[in-house]
Amino acid sequence: EEAPEDRPEDLKPRPPVIAVMGHVDHGKTSLLDAIRETEVAAGEAGGITQHIGAYQVKHDGKTVTFLDTPGHEAFTAMRARGAKVTDIAAIVVAADDGVMPQTVEAIDHAKAAEVPMVFVINKIDKPDANIEKIKQQLTEFSIVPEEWGGDTVFVEASAKKKIGLDNFLDMLLLVAEVGDLKANPDAPASGVVIEAKVDVGRGVVVTMLIERGTIRVGDAIVAGEASGRVRAMRDFRGEPLAKAGPSTPVEIIGFDSVPEAGEACRVVKDEKAARVLANRRTNRLRAEDLAKQHALTLDDLYARIAEGEVSELNLIIKADVQGSIEALADALGQIGHEEVKVRVIHSGVGGINESDVMLATASSAIIIGFNVRPNAPAAALAEAEGVDIRTYRVIYKVTEDVQAALVGLLKPEVVEEVLGQTEVRQLFKVSRLGTIAGCHVTRGKITRTSSIRVLRDGVVVHDGKLASLKRFNEDTREVLEGFECGILLDGFNDLKVGDTLEAYETKEVARGA
Ligand code: GDP
Repeated sequence: EEAPEDRPEDLKPRPPVIAVMGHVDHGKTSLLDAIRETEVAAGEAGGITQHIGAYQVKHDGKTVTFLDTPGHEAFTAMRARGAKVTDIAAIVVAADDGVMPQTVEAIDHAKAAEVPMVFVINKIDKPDANIEKIKQQLTEFSIVPEEWGGDTVFVEASAKKKIGLDNFLDMLLLVAEVGDLKANPDAPASGVVIEAKVDVGRGVVVTMLIERGTIRVGDAIVAGEASGRVRAMRDFRGEPLAKAGPSTPVEIIGFDSVPEAGEACRVVKDEKAARVLANRRTNRLRAEDLAKQHALTLDDLYARIAEGEVSELNLIIKADVQGSIEALADALGQIGHEEVKVRVIHSGVGGINESDVMLATASSAIIIGFNVRPNAPAAALAEAEGVDIRTYRVIYKVTEDVQAALVGLLKPEVVEEVLGQTEVRQLFKVSRLGTIAGCHVTRGKITRTSSIRVLRDGVVVHDGKLASLKRFNEDTREVLEGFECGILLDGFNDLKVGDTLEAYETKEVARGA
């Protein structure tokens, strides 16, 4: 029941869909608000007060669609579910702050998605704005402005003073034109769920971005496990709509349950067909759970290469210091393989976070942690999505593993099992003994024989054994979640309150076991 392919003559130009990304506080929300307000000032009907996840503006007679949830996390979360809605990433950099870690994340996420970028240098009203410095910083990421002979579009703006917004919209339309964005407005409608919620009084409210075709009130629809009929439809201003075409965000009432954001949504013949599809989808979800185990891992890399499924090994590197990243990227760059290209799609200093795991899911990447660990939400997400996180403390081990995996010779793996985590709450200096940490077991358990890793903001600052584990001054073999204990580490006294002590055990298993 898939809709037939579009014939070239049926394709009509459609508005571009823009996602705004960048470092926190650089002005993403302000920029989105400024553009929205300017449109109201320009005499468009109604005050736009509601947030439905996307809105549109008219500029020079053309339409631009903005996704209204800024940030690369939202962008990549959608992509991880298979949705590719964004045509252009607008990367906001504050002129007084420059390129920051999340700027780099946003760039890498946009690159991994192969979405063109437009840079907005915001806050140019600030006295300490330094536009040239930002352009200079970005050249390190192979981003070169047009006036320097490159091909990246830059605009200068102030969301606060509403400067440069027209130019920004001009440039977005220009980049969109190069992309030759088209869709068939006459096909059966399909799109992606942008937001979904239950609204008191209105029931299930779903914002859908139409990608193809035209949706009409009365159409039967299905999105994942949710189905229904379009009972009412409104645009982003809250105005009722009878129909809507490609790149239009619409708010739909009529679903029987709440679909997930990023879920594909489409119009089908009738409500019965919608229900059948939604049910079938419920069964398929179970199959997807199995498919998840097919996320790329180093262990099955060789088999996947042999099957011709993989021609690129995407890696994400997180490390304790920039120097390690450079050394690792260098070493990995030396690895040659006839059929497989090793590509570092993102790297950064700091612990492994959810955004890294999301990017790995969306790009079938493997995460390499060098002297860093995943935080709890990242570890949980990786487990659920089947993302392979490898942590190392020596550089040559990383290249050795990657090289071995490429030719199917990865050795038996030393797997570690994390037993639990404890948080350092108090410190007692005891002469001759050292520093005893008063700890609270926050997850799992800690045992006398476990290895201990000291984590400070996700970075491994020490790895070793326990010297003693006590409860109420008595030696004990293990302490469970929720309980307090006293810990003395073997040969490490440099603990701080707030450190996490991760207890783990290692054992050797055959690969693929
Ligand atoms: P976001 O975290 O990227 O969404 O950033 P916000 O839009 O919340 O902005 C962060 C702060 O910067 C707020 O206090 C804004 O008022 C301020 N801000 C945003 N744009 C500008 C600008 O163009 N000029 C100045 N001076 N301040 C701005």
